[in-house]
Amino acid sequence: MTASADRILTNAEVHTLADPDETAEAVAIRDGDVVRVDSAYEVGFLEGAETDVVDLGGRVLLPGFVDAHTHLQMVGNYLVHADLSAADSPADCVDLLAANAADDREWILGYGFDESTWQESRYLTREDLDAVSESRPVVAFREDMHTAAANGVALDRLGEAMPPADVKTEGGEPTGVLVEDAVDAVYEAVEPDEDEMRELLLAAQRDAHRKGVTGVHDMVRRSRAPEVYRQLELDGDLALRVRLNYWSDHLDALEELGLRTNHGSEFVRTGGVKTFTDGSFGGRTAKLSEPYADADDETGQWVVAPDELESFVQRADDAGFQVTAHAIGDEAIDAVLSAYEDADDPGAARHRVEHVELATDEHVERFAESGVVASVQPNFLKWAGEDGLYDERLGTDRRRRTNRFRDLLDAGARLAFGSDCMPMDPLLGVHHAVNAPAEAQRLSVTEALRAYTLGAAYAGFDEDRMGTVEAGKVADLVALERSPWEHEDAIEDVDVTLTVVDGEVVYDGR
Ligand SMILES: [Zn+2]
Repeated sequence: MTASADRILTNAEVHTLADPDETAEAVAIRDGDVVRVDSAYEVGFLEGAETDVVDLGGRVLLPGFVDAHTHLQMVGNYLVHADLSAADSPADCVDLLAANAADDREWILGYGFDESTWQESRYLTREDLDAVSESRPVVAFREDMHTAAANGVALDRLGEAMPPADVKTEGGEPTGVLVEDAVDAVYEAVEPDEDEMRELLLAAQRDAHRKGVTGVHDMVRRSRAPEVYRQLELDGDLALRVRLNYWSDHLDALEELGLRTNHGSEFVRTGGVKTFTDGSFGGRTAKLSEPYADADDETGQWVVAPDELESFVQRADDAGFQVTAHAIGDEAIDAVLSAYEDADDPGAARHRVEHVELATDEHVERFAESGVVASVQPNFLKWAGEDGLYDERLGTDRRRRTNRFRDLLDAGARLAFGSDCMPMDPLLGVHHAVNAPAEAQRLSVTEALRAYTLGAAYAGFDEDRMGTVEAGKVADLVALERSPWEHEDAIEDVDVTLTVVDGEVVYDGR
């Protein structure tokens, strides 16, 4: 006699998203694992007196989404502090910050203003923020996180810590506008303590569950996030598979602690070490082989130069770490692939390139041959339309060759989807990949969903544990309100109905 299931999800259109994608009607779960995927009739035999039976009313059930590139601390910041991303003016920002000032925190913080979309298109100033408070420090961060504005109290408080060159002045007086290293000084001053970090990560986890995300590859640097994730797991409060990708400056510490890629527990694992090569298209700092379309002779800049990158990759690879490197422009992608190709077996190490926005035909082939993972963000296709950011920076020809998901898949490359939390929303990404402006690069619904499940799981050495709905895998699942296959042109509007992690219902939107 077979032991009965803890939970059965039935009357569903289950897609395994394995290859080939198969459908079933029901899933049985025991001890956090999927134990059977079959017809409702067959799975019904596993129903016992204690079994919780969830009738999904014919809805689509998929493996939970794995977001291969997140910054959950930042997601938490937007949710817990003032979210300025929807503000339309400096006055809006002041209102939002003031509304957030009522709590008992010392600093009043706001995230994500973008003056480029405002009628009154200017940075926030000290004067604006003094109107929020003249007794507590107030700081508002621009969307790109390289610029911020501070009020008088914050300027006084941070004074010494900020390099004068990065504190903008007018007539000798600081305007309140801060850039680069001065912004870093603010981060250090407002780095959350353990309690606040807990609050940020739990808020981000709730958001993840609402979006059907059950696993993340989180990028962390000099923050308490790793220890707080581990504490949340010990306390039984973590319901998200978190893979920690550490910034390259943590490599010494990781080696010293004896931590290696894939070490960890059920919910928190050590991922790779992350480095950079270039900047972004927005800032014209992504490294190009040919000049920008909107700036003569400019080809971007190295954040980490190729020779330095090469020695870092060699060192991390020798020490047994997976490496992941940010590369957006074609010149940067070339440099990372070259550095990886020098490793013993870059495919087995599953080294990754983050973003891969402007790859050449040759790069596509090299991804496929080397087995290096292309960790891409389909939501970035929002910039790929006519008159979009790519058009402006790269011109029409190159714009059409951005985010080549179809070419990468057809060549046999490993494709992992993530969001970079801009915003964290897998169905939005799937929508973009299926409806890409360059028709030749569009994916089918199944292919796009697979890149956000099995593809991302593979990038985290997790394809045997998650990424498909199959007996023996973890019961991390998501049910959707409508079928993305039947609403191909409106997948971004499909809501998540139910999210299950480790067999437990963590979000119920019914
Ligand atoms: Zn990122």
